[in-house]
Amino acid sequence: MNLKPIISALCSVFFLGVAQSNAQTIRPLKGDTVKIWPKSEWNGVVGRPYKQHIPVQITVHHEGGKLLGLNDDAKQRLKNIQTWGMGPDRKWADVPYHLLIAPDGTVYQGRDPLTVGETNTEYDPTGHLLVCFLGNYNQQKLDEKLLKVLTNLLADQCIKYGISPTKISTHKDHSKQTTCPGEDIYSYFKSGYIVDEVTKEQGVRSKGG
Ligand SMILES: [Zn+2]
Repeated sequence: MNLKPIISALCSVFFLGVAQSNAQTIRPLKGDTVKIWPKSEWNGVVGRPYKQHIPVQITVHHEGGKLLGLNDDAKQRLKNIQTWGMGPDRKWADVPYHLLIAPDGTVYQGRDPLTVGETNTEYDPTGHLLVCFLGNYNQQKLDEKLLKVLTNLLADQCIKYGISPTKISTHKDHSKQTTCPGEDIYSYFKSGYIVDEVTKEQGVRSKGG
């Protein structure tokens, strides 16, 4: 495989390690609306141990490498990222992100959400739940379906970890060294759309809607 697109990807974020002992046993919690497919779905291997944390905010990324279309193999892309990241080039403990979204809206489990990453940009990812779109959203665009998957997934995670929607942001909000999550995704954060929609969704759910 050509590693250059992957090296340029991952938004210069170095996430080290995670024990993935629970990766195959993740179950939807009550109230989850978005199915998260386990690592076995994309043939991922168990990550290596790393320090733990509890997510207190959510940060959205894009992979930032090659485009990924609807007809491209998102599972293979994810597997390639893990294989490269855990290999001799980086020696990471696992795929760099906790949750990954394919262009068709399928959500995959990445590293254990209860473990910390590491970054070589200037923010400390401790406490950040990392949600990443596969592909490059400086060139791709979110469609209505992906926006709905994102806002529902974010609402699920806010409820799961007791995180306020106002604590959802993007990589570039924490770092001057990256354009991640790409121009198109960032536009929905800049306008306030994402936080507004997640807040509304939480309101609907709390009323039993
Ligand atoms: Zn990023």
